[in-house]
Amino acid sequence: MSDDSLREASEESPSDEDGACTNALKDFHSAGRGPWSHVPDSDWNDWRWQLKNRITTVEQLERLLPDLTASERAGAILARSKLAMAITPHFFNLIEAGDENGAIRRQVVPRLEETHQASWEMADPCGEDSHSPVPGLVHRYPDRVLFLVTDRCASYCRYCTRSRLVSNAAGYDFHADFDKQLAYIESHPEIRDVLLSGGDPLLFSDEKLEYLLSRLRAIPHVEFLRIGTRIPIFLPQRITAELCAMLRQFHPLFISIHTNHPRELTTEVRDALGRLADAGIPLGNQSVLLRHVNDDVEVMKVLVQKLLRCRVRPYYIYQCDLIAGSAHLRSSVRKGIDIIQGLRGHTTGYAIPQFVIDAPGGGGKVPINPEYVLSHNHDRVVIRNFEGRVFEYPEGEDGQPLVPKTRRSAEMEMF
Ligand code: SF4
Repeated sequence: MSDDSLREASEESPSDEDGACTNALKDFHSAGRGPWSHVPDSDWNDWRWQLKNRITTVEQLERLLPDLTASERAGAILARSKLAMAITPHFFNLIEAGDENGAIRRQVVPRLEETHQASWEMADPCGEDSHSPVPGLVHRYPDRVLFLVTDRCASYCRYCTRSRLVSNAAGYDFHADFDKQLAYIESHPEIRDVLLSGGDPLLFSDEKLEYLLSRLRAIPHVEFLRIGTRIPIFLPQRITAELCAMLRQFHPLFISIHTNHPRELTTEVRDALGRLADAGIPLGNQSVLLRHVNDDVEVMKVLVQKLLRCRVRPYYIYQCDLIAGSAHLRSSVRKGIDIIQGLRGHTTGYAIPQFVIDAPGGGGKVPINPEYVLSHNHDRVVIRNFEGRVFEYPEGEDGQPLVPKTRRSAEMEMF
């Protein structure tokens, strides 16, 4: 950096710096090679090499992240018996060395706080086990099922709602029994939608995944298939041309990815998502609202706009489930509402996800919205828009609006 540019940098006001940070997040950058610069391209771009070389031990973490904190060190040791640690080299390169509160770092590097458990936290906050007619199948909503196919992921998210089973560190001993799971779906004609999840289904080989999708496609009442995956983010190398060619045989097939912060959308990820979109697969994104990661309107706005550029429709923002040991990552519901309010009307409608709370204990997803309806009675609805301006719409019976009162009189009555 020249002296002039150093001077310019030091003269920037905090708001200039915030703006520069947000602008930097908008761009796509490669995750780079980081400490793996010596690795040949053929290895680096091979998803199996990435899996084999994941960071899974505290010793590796200490070597690669010199400013590891005492809390992270203890967390990495304790993760062995709770939710294992695994970080792909690709995703590791996004970790903010020198910033223990970095948005990427908080998501995958364990901390001692994971051992703190509040009385309202649970091992199975969404009540999945109590809605499982056969192991590995959750049938909570009338016409669709969640089909858990594996307990393994490319990297492990420290707030995972299924941390009781993924990685098997806590001894849950998950074993998918495809024949039993498929038999249940075959014998329930009301099931028209199957969501493959886990763990991460895209960790399967192409052959194994093709077998499973073929079996599901052969069930006449299954209209719609979905895959929930974080592989395009953790392991974009897995999204090969062969995988995409195989998946496109099973349309209508949708994929829900999971990304939380704009820095996760690297050039590698953008290209992987492009390959899936080119295979005709509609893509949606689910984010979890996380403290000091994405509980900020501007960060979330960059994320959703960047997702649209990757042909991914932002679908849900989840309030973080009450998973045991996640309090340090949970943000308030109020922040989620403020984010939706900061997006609605301020950016493209397609970019606006639905904020939901998965009701604790198995109540399902409940949409949470800012209050736009100020009053609603038999003859009118009083609403406010994104700028806070108040409007009245005539209510009526079956398309026959009653004569509305004037807006002025409506407003007078409100106050
Ligand atoms: S990728 Fe999904 S299932 Fe796997 S640890 Fe992360 S949130 Fe859990």
